[in-house]
Parts: sequence; structure tokens; C-alpha cells
Amino acid sequence: MAEAHGSTAVSAGSTRAHGNGNGRALLEVEGLTSAYGPVRALDGVSLSAEAGRITAVLGANGAGKTTLLRTISGLVRPVSGTVRLDGDDITRAAVEEMVGKGMSHVPEGRGVIAELTVDENLRVGSLFRGKVGREEFDKVYETFPRIYERKDNPAHTLSGGERQMLVIGRALLAKPRILLLDEPSLGLAPRIVAQIFGLLRQLVDREGLSVLLVEQNARSALSVADVGVVLNLGKVVVTDDARTLMADEGLRHAYLGF
Ligand code: ATP
Repeated sequence: MAEAHGSTAVSAGSTRAHGNGNGRALLEVEGLTSAYGPVRALDGVSLSAEAGRITAVLGANGAGKTTLLRTISGLVRPVSGTVRLDGDDITRAAVEEMVGKGMSHVPEGRGVIAELTVDENLRVGSLFRGKVGREEFDKVYETFPRIYERKDNPAHTLSGGERQMLVIGRALLAKPRILLLDEPSLGLAPRIVAQIFGLLRQLVDREGLSVLLVEQNARSALSVADVGVVLNLGKVVVTDDARTLMADEGLRHAYLGF
């Protein structure tokens, strides 16, 4: 284990299961503290997400995972701490500036415009970028053939897995360097989770995308991630290589629920 029972910065794991990253920290979070009134949801959290890797943030309900993503992407303003993207301090940057620098956040809940078709949802989602070439939509459809098949169907007819693919596809149209993904597996059958995580892995391995993945489903997340960060009550408990965490039965039982 790289770091146990503390909230100190730990560079993401040492041995690599897979991934094509170069070990460079693309996203660096240091001493991040966020609160909702008297509730301290994050307490001095430090972690980094390396380029070309999947970093999974794991923990039980209320551990602070969603708050972490919301603070990184500027939806929650931190009490203290810093967030750097490729060396630039973006802690208090406007959301559009963060998107411009290559950060794209897919919140939990799979929000789509129910009455619009899949294709229209992708178009609406890309409007802020001005003109988006046909080939960029084609690329999303190539990545997610299932949503290509459904492209003329209203979004409310999609299954949960198809919706998840649509919101990830929509985020990819922003051409992110790093994708922040909040609980993509929530409520999905294990087979669909494996399919979505497999596609995510391909995006990382083939396109060099970097992913910060927040998941309560630790077993599935660790099976696809390179590095895992375990949160508990707003603090980092441990950061290590995903395989090492998977093999640590005591840790799994104590914090990861399997
Ligand atoms: P979950 O998987 O249940 O979403 P989580 O790990 O994502 O859990 P957070 O949603 O970040 O955890 O919540 C961290 C803490 O902050 C919890 O104690 C939660 O009750 C509290 N909290 C979250 N959102 C709010 C809010 N809008 N107002 C007040 N407290 C909040």
C-alpha cells in the first residue's frame, strides 16, 4: 500500500496493470476541503490523476466522492486547497474555462433531454463548441455503436446503459483530455457495466484519454482502473495500484463493501 490512513498527497500507484500514460500528473488535487454549511464533505483531500490512465475514487455512501468531482469541476467552491490541470491552477476558474482546458464532467443521473432524439441530444450538447464536424459525431457513434442504432429514437426510450453511453458520448464532443465520471454503473446490470467500462478502457488505451472515475461499485471500478483512491468520511484512506487494492481483503471489507 502506498499510503495508509492519512490524507497526504500520494502519487498514483507504482506498478501498472495497463494504460498508456507516461506517469505525468494531469490533474492534481491538493488539500481540498469542501463543506455544505456545517457539514465538511471533503477534508484535506490530495490525489492526482495521471495522463492516459483511469484513476478510480472509491468509497461508501457519503464518503465525499460526488463532492470531490463537483469541487474539481467548480460546481462547489472549496473552503481551501487547490486543483491544478496540467500545472495550471484552476481552483476558482469558471466552468467554461475548465472545459476549454480539457476537463469534461459527466455528473451522476445520466441527464438527457427526454423528448429529443439521441442525435439531437448530442447536437444540443455540442452547441457551446460552435461548429462540430460530422466526423466528430461519427466518432462518438463508432465508439458507441449501440447509440448509433438508437440515434433517431427519443432519449426517454433508452435503457439506463444506453443513456450512460449517450452522456459519455456527449461529453466526448467537448474533446476532453480528462473525463470526470460520477457513478456510471449505478443501477446497471453487471454485463452492461462491464461493457461500458470496456469501452472506457479502449478510449484510454487507444485515444490517450485520462479518466477520473468515481464509483461505489469498487469491484467493477478496480477491474478497469489503473489506480484506486479510497475515500472515507471526506478523507483519503489509501491510494495504490488497482490490483494491489483488489488483493487487499482487509481493505475491501473495511471500506469497499466486497
Ligand atoms: P453518494 O454515493 O451517496 O453520492 P458520495 O461519496 O458521493 O456519496 P457526497 O454526495 O459527496 O458523497 O456527500 C458527502 C457528504 O456531504 C455527506 O455527508 C452528504 O450528506 C453531504 N452532502 C452532500 N451534498 C450535500 C448538500 N447538497 N447539502 C448538504 N450536505 C450534503
